[in-house]
Amino acid sequence: MADGLKESGQAGGGPGTLYIVATPIGNLEDLSPRAEKVLSSVAVVAAEDTRHSGRLLQHLGLRKPMIALHEHNERERVAQVLKELQAGKDLALVSDAGTPLISDPGYVVVREARAQGIRVCPIPGPCALVTALSAAGLPTDRFLFAGFLPAKRTGRRTALEALKREPATLVFYESPHRILDTLADLVAVLGGERELVLGRELTKTFETFYSGTAEDVLAELQADPHGGKGEFVVVVRGAEASGEVGEEPGLDVDKLLVLLLAELPVKKAAKIVAELTGGSKNELYQRALGLKAR
Ligand code: SAM
Repeated sequence: MADGLKESGQAGGGPGTLYIVATPIGNLEDLSPRAEKVLSSVAVVAAEDTRHSGRLLQHLGLRKPMIALHEHNERERVAQVLKELQAGKDLALVSDAGTPLISDPGYVVVREARAQGIRVCPIPGPCALVTALSAAGLPTDRFLFAGFLPAKRTGRRTALEALKREPATLVFYESPHRILDTLADLVAVLGGERELVLGRELTKTFETFYSGTAEDVLAELQADPHGGKGEFVVVVRGAEASGEVGEEPGLDVDKLLVLLLAELPVKKAAKIVAELTGGSKNELYQRALGLKAR
């Protein structure tokens, strides 16, 4: 078919297709016609929360057998999902909101399905991180999505330290009860002057963007009676190209680290660059870790 969908959701020789279906992040009108078509054609729907996604199916006038597949049971449920697919049934994977696998379950199933030669077909649509980025007005040519930061302050600050010198735009998800603490840590680690855009309740009635320096956004959110409510995407401008790490004129610290990392362990590479530039060994170590992870 021209839309990439098969004719039927039922068995017809060979395994079925696993459709990865993006669903709205708050506005039901964002469900694509193709997503609706797939959901109505498949034999089974695997969902993070069957009651939640059951309501979406009900809204579409659909009733489907459902498999619950969430972060705590994904590994055990893979066999069941794969069995349905191997029996020739088409199956749609959905999460509570947005694109499955993006800070949501599905990775294990997709990996295993591909390993077994099963066709995995993405049905793209809403995703909070892309939605926020598309309207934030910060550079999008390079961005680093870091998902949820650690829940505890020490872990969160360590994670932010490792990203402090990252030149790409940073994107995080955050829950309403941690947003103020996270913004305070962003100010403490990245500095109050770092430009930041906060997208709250995107695509919903009370959609709000807060933008300015990290310090300003924190103050604005603290002053807003609705500030600590809803869902949040945090978008942060990347670090300026020249860092305080190595002030040696004409020396490209990142390039040097990348060259050394090709030959040496991270610690050694950081030590050599620290000696060459007079920069902090620890900061260079964190920077090298970031470069190695790319
Ligand atoms: N798979 C989803 C996606 O594609 O965006 C993300 C799932 S993750 C478990 C949930 C987090 O995404 C929320 O805590 C929030 O940070 C972000 N999020 C989801 N919907 C949002 C919305 N409407 N506005 C702002 N952030 C949202």
